[in-house]
Parts: sequence; C-alpha cells; structure tokens
Amino acid sequence: MADQYDVVVIGAGPAGYPAAIRAAQHKLRVACIDEWKNRDGSSALGGTCLNAGCIPSKALLESTELLHRAQHEFAAHGIGASGLKVDLAAMQKRRATIVKTMTQGIAGLFKAAGVTALAGHGRLLAPGRVEFTAHDGSKRELLAKHVVLASGSVPVELKSVPFDGKQIIDSWGALELDAVPKRLGVIGAGVIGLELGSVWRRLGAEVVVLEALPDFLPMADGAVAKEALRHFRKLGLDIRLGTKVSGAKRAGGAVEVEYADASAATQRLVVDTLVVAVGRRPNSRELLADGTGVKLDERGFVVVDDACRTGIDGVWAVGDLVRGPMLAHKGKEEGVMVADLIAGHFGEVNYRAVPSVIYTAPEIAWVGQTEEQVKASGRPYKVGTFPFMASGRARAMEAGAGFAKIVAASDDDEILGVHIIGPMAGELIAEAVLAMEYSASTEDLQRTMHAHPTLSEALHEAALAADRKAIDIPNKAG
Ligand code: FAD
Ligand code: AMP
Repeated sequence: MADQYDVVVIGAGPAGYPAAIRAAQHKLRVACIDEWKNRDGSSALGGTCLNAGCIPSKALLESTELLHRAQHEFAAHGIGASGLKVDLAAMQKRRATIVKTMTQGIAGLFKAAGVTALAGHGRLLAPGRVEFTAHDGSKRELLAKHVVLASGSVPVELKSVPFDGKQIIDSWGALELDAVPKRLGVIGAGVIGLELGSVWRRLGAEVVVLEALPDFLPMADGAVAKEALRHFRKLGLDIRLGTKVSGAKRAGGAVEVEYADASAATQRLVVDTLVVAVGRRPNSRELLADGTGVKLDERGFVVVDDACRTGIDGVWAVGDLVRGPMLAHKGKEEGVMVADLIAGHFGEVNYRAVPSVIYTAPEIAWVGQTEEQVKASGRPYKVGTFPFMASGRARAMEAGAGFAKIVAASDDDEILGVHIIGPMAGELIAEAVLAMEYSASTEDLQRTMHAHPTLSEALHEAALAADRKAIDIPNKAG
C-alpha cells in the first residue's frame, strides 16, 4: 500500500524545508523528498543555498574579507600585520564544516517537527500522487492531499562554453577550489559572479569579469551601481562590460576564452580557471509525469499565481522553480505561505518588499524601486542620501565608503525604495523592509530614534535628508 501524507514537499532547499516544517507545525503529516548529493556521494538537506550557494559563499567572503582588511586596513588602526599567511585548506575546511553543521541542523529540525525526510528523487505522477525513487533505485508511491514542488534551480550552461568540472566550472565548483588560480575568468557580472570574483581576487588571483551587458548591475539603483563599480575596480576586479563570450577551449593547460568586446571586435583571454556565472534556470528535470496539468512557461518556470497555486488542485510550487527573484528568503516566505494556506490559515508574500543583498565589500542592499524606476513611473519623488563618511560608527570601523539612499513619493511621503552601499548594508536593509512592509513614510523613519553611534543612523539621516532636514550633513539647496 502507498504511504499516505497530508503534504509531500519535493525539494528541501530554503523554499521546501520551511514549507515542510510549517506544515508539520500545523499538525499535518509531512514528507520532504530531496535528491541532493555532495561530491563525496553523501546526501544533504538544504539545497543549493546551504550546500553550494548562500552559506558557503558567505563563509569564504567572510574569511577573505578578513584577510583583505588585515592587509589593507590594519595599518590605519596602528596594527602591524606583516607575514600574513593563507592556509586555503583550513579556510575551505571551515567552509565545509559550516555547511555540514547547517545541513545537519535541518535534519534535526525535521526530526523535531516530525517531518519524514526521504533521500532520493520525487516526481509528481498526478495530483495527490508522487513517485519516490530512493538513491538505491527502489521506487514507491506516496499519496498526498497536497504536493509542494520546490525543486529549485541549476546553473545555466553556455553551449559554447561547456563545463568540464576542472577548469571550466560553475559557481559550486568555484566555491570548492583547492588552489588559488593565478588567472581567473568569470563570465557574468551578476551577484554570484561578483561575489566569487571578490573571493578569489582577495586571495590573490588576477580576475577578469566578462559581462555581456553594457551597464553594470542594471537591477540596482544607478548611483549604487556606479559607486560599486568604482570600488570593485579598486579591488582589482578587471570588469569588462559589453563583452559577449562566444566560446572557450582548453589549450596548453590553460583556458582560452573568445569574446566580442564593446566594439564587436573579437578578443582572446587566457585564464587558468573559468567560472561560468551567467544565471540559473528552474530545475524541472523529471519532476512532472505527462498529463499532470501543471504548466511550465517558455523558460521552464512552473506557472503559479500570487499564492503559489499551480491551478491544479492540491499542487503548489515555490522558490527558484517559480517566477520572481531567485533568492533564498523569497523562497522561504513562499514555502511558509503555502503551508499556512494548506492548513487553512492566512498566508501572503509581499513581493514589493523583497530585499536584495550582494555580500561584497562594500556590501550592497536594496528594497523597493530604484530611482530610475520611480522616475520612469512618472510619480513625483524626492531623494535623501547620507554618506557613510559622515557616520561616526562607520569611520570608527574604517568603513566610510558608500551611502544610504531613500527614494520617497513627494505627494504622500511613502518610502518607495531604499538603496545602501556600505558596511553591513545587508543587515541595515532589514529596517527599510520593515518600514515598507508597514507602508511607512520618511517622516515615520525621521521620528524613529536610532542609537548613536550606529550604522543605522545613516538610514535615519537619509530619511531626514529627503526633506532637507539632515543634521549631520549639509542639506542640498533647492
Ligand atoms: P534549491 O536551493 O535549489 O533547492 C532545491 C532542492 O531540491 C535541491 O536540494 C535539489 O537537489 C532538490 N531537488 C530538485 N529536484 C528534485 C526532485 N525531483 N526530487 C527530489 N529533490 C529534488 N540567495 C540568497 O537569498 N542569498 C544569497 O546570499 C545567495 N547566494 C548564492 C550564492 C550562490 C553561489 C548561488 C549559486 C546561489 C545563491 N543564492 C542566494 C540563491 C539561492 O541559493 C536560491 O535562491 C535558493 O537556494 C533557492 O531555493 P529553492 O529551495 O527554491 O531551491
Ligand atoms: P545573474 O543572472 O544575475 O546571475 O547574472 C548573469 C550575468 O551574466 C548577466 O548579467 C548576463 O548579462 C551575463 N551573461 C550572460 N551570458 C553571457 C555571455 N555569453 N558573456 C558574458 N556575459 C554573459
């Protein structure tokens, strides 16, 4: 007889595992299937985010930023730090240990919540019916009142630059290198390309980033993107915009990359390792049997409404598998929303307040609309900007680069977007997200007391600057 569940979740990444845990909190009988296998053959929960994405990248960014600060900032504090040595094996071991601890943590959470974890492949046969293939190849059918598809995404492979797993690698490979390449090429100046490029640059690699688009970080606010490009180039990232890669091949122990530069002339670049970071695509491999009725769009995303319903009763889809930004926290909120809705509770995701963070130095974070988007919308607006150079805390941290910027409606004062480049931007943005969640105005932020001296004062002062009421910087005339 088939196993019976209230909810079967396919995928235990940051979208799937919270769906499973929340459903179990609602006293539903839940199973979560995940097929992730590490390079050593072991299975692990947590998906891309924990095993090959957010967490390992942040571990390496933290280690290498410490190195960079020791090399370039300690002197300003009066600390001599000569003879610094990098033990890459130890750095990588730390990264691997963090990942292992976190993924085992999810196994522990499943156990505590009563979620049945099944290691292997899940496939929706029909609404209410899931085929589970264990890693040993044995199959069985699970019956479920609800199925949540959370199979995530995989790296996009360029046809002309096929991965070889050694010198032409994806982002996962780039997180697990055991030696610093002398010359590293990165295709794609998106979030992942910039984070990985920063890690290996700080460890001493010569890094060239090839980006097809003529504009840098087009999804970010223009002023932030401009400031970011300046800092990344200062770090030594050789970012070449408007360069479209047309092929790469192994030649004499190196990789020869061919690309068209901004004037369409063909150029060659020789590197030791090439990271292809040109985006990710939804992972719907062997996910749906014929005739389930679940629709995929032309790019392979499962089509869902705002509540992550597929339109087929009892079948839901969340995370990178569906429209919207490919971010762990967006998937998490969708997973929780779906589980709440399944249990008959209220559930909603506010897609207008999804924060984005790039964990480089300086760090970049934003929520809501960019100034360019607000301008294009035609709504009258005002802008307040506060440079970290004027923040006592930032100066004390030797981290005066960057600024906080607020874009707000001039008619009703609503905050439309907040953009931060500077120290702890990813933490600071949380206040802006909360403000936008509660439809706060700049006046609300202006009247909120911020501890002194903290980085958060930058946001407070930016809100004041929007009305030319800043205290700690001269207000712009006008
Ligand atoms: P995934 O995390 O991809 O998980 C899906 C899981 O489902 C996987 O374990 C997969 O093996 C499993 N699976 C797939 N199909 C099946 C099947 N049929 N049966 C069983 N199991 C299946 N996002 C952030 O928000 N912040 C960051 O800092 C960040 N950094 C990143 C850095 C890198 C290098 C990368 C690559 C990504 C990063 N991301 C970051 C993006 C983030 O990892 C994804 O948005 C997130 O993991 C998506 O979650 P998900 O649960 O939808 O899918
Ligand atoms: P993201 O989708 O944010 O991960 O970013 C991927 C980046 O890779 C985008 O900015 C793309 O413009 C860029 N890209 C895609 N294909 C190519 C290519 N063939 N050569 C150079 N850059 C590319």
